[in-house]
Amino acid sequence: MACDCPLTQPGPTLAATCGGAPFMLFMGLLEVFLRSQCDVEDPCNRPKPPSLFHDYDFIVVGSGSSGAVVASRLSEIPEWRVLLIEAGLDEPTGTQVPSMFLNFIGSEIDWGYQTEPETQACLGEVGQRCYWPRGKVLGGTSVMNGMMYMRGSRKDYNDWAAMGNEGWTYNEVLPHFLKSEDNKQMDQVDIGYHAKGGLLSVSQFPYHPPLSKSILKAAQELGYPIRDLNGRYHTGFNIAQTTNKNGSRMSTAKAFLRPFKNRQNLHILLNSTVTKVLINTTTKQAYGVEVLREGKKSTIYAIKEVILSGGAINSPQILLLSGIGPSEELKKVKIPVIHDLPGVGKNLQNHVAYAVNFFINDTNTAPLNWATAMEYLLFRDGLMSGTGKPFLKTFNDVKNIYICQNNRFH
Ligand SMILES: Cc1cc2nc3c(=O)[nH]c(=O)nc-3n(C[C@H](O)[C@H](O)[C@H](O)COP(=O)(O)OP(=O)(O)OC[C@H]3O[C@@H](n4cnc5c(N)ncnc54)[C@H](O)[C@@H]3O)c2cc1C
Repeated sequence: MACDCPLTQPGPTLAATCGGAPFMLFMGLLEVFLRSQCDVEDPCNRPKPPSLFHDYDFIVVGSGSSGAVVASRLSEIPEWRVLLIEAGLDEPTGTQVPSMFLNFIGSEIDWGYQTEPETQACLGEVGQRCYWPRGKVLGGTSVMNGMMYMRGSRKDYNDWAAMGNEGWTYNEVLPHFLKSEDNKQMDQVDIGYHAKGGLLSVSQFPYHPPLSKSILKAAQELGYPIRDLNGRYHTGFNIAQTTNKNGSRMSTAKAFLRPFKNRQNLHILLNSTVTKVLINTTTKQAYGVEVLREGKKSTIYAIKEVILSGGAINSPQILLLSGIGPSEELKKVKIPVIHDLPGVGKNLQNHVAYAVNFFINDTNTAPLNWATAMEYLLFRDGLMSGTGKPFLKTFNDVKNIYICQNNRFH
């Protein structure tokens, strides 16, 4: 079926960096089929380039898991003019297919960060430097993450509130999670912790490999509870709920921005990098941003607020570039200090991750091939409709997808 609107720009393709010519051909053809499916490509609902105003009430920097939601919610007030600035482009079609997410790590939609050489971690990596993927695309890292719907621990929120962040206790943020959520499996979750009717579609992936039942059975045998991990408790085992809709990725761009593509007071500026927040040195109030766009710098003014949602690495980077951070370090690189704030750029943490891989001798754990591709293209079901499949069948042999993709994971 032809799409009613012209297709969006191609963006990074699905073709992997290894696997040989047959594999590349497979991925190329898959891309062509995917792009012809309007519900995946969704060309009518992609944001259009705006005619920029001189100033906005709010400027939101970064359109990822957080920025897309903030811009969407602020622009619900028709009197407020909101500008969302994103360094990357719109979401490529292939990212909508859950099982393809590893293809985009290390691609053009990834900032491609690496840690400094570590002494206590990343010991198996080249130079003891871990690769640190971060989305550079409308929707940010929600476009290339594992899609598990995990809200975080109640204790963390309560601790943040106890540090003086008003309004951040778990009980205070819970209503916002409920407002956003459209849970399709309310019968499987704790009552009072989930909701229907929001913008973000949440459910288990359509396909559960038989192995998942064995894992749950094993967990039960060992005495672990099987329960909702976003409910009263945060530990246990379960088949995860995910941010998917009918087997397609539900990025925050898709959930919170595409439905409002015609909102006159919400402008979305792609391919534009904020290099600095402009701050009045006397009042210390932000009044705009400096933006690098097609090689040219320009200034856009904010009347009320500038909101930094550039992610855990880029938001502190922007603060430092703007003169907010440890004064000694800023002086060394000749950035005029506006506010001495020693903690900026410090204490970055990630969750522990083990890359232990198992090869499973099970014919029911279907490989990626034309049968599974057709199952996805026709029914949005099967192996490709989920992210939790660490194996990829190439035409030559079975390879671990982490190694196959970029040699950074082992
Ligand atoms: C491989 C991987 C798998 C993951 N799996 C899961 C999972 O299953 N479940 C889960 O809950 N979490 C998962 N996460 C983590 C989760 O995706 C992130 O925590 C979350 O997306 C971060 O949101 P954010 O809004 O802080 O930043 P991001 O989503 O990274 O958004 C930041 C945005 O700001 C833009 N930006 C940055 N600097 C600038 C600038 N100077 N100018 C303009 N724009 C800028 C970026 O391009 C990006 O679009 C995963 C992460 C990765 C990398």
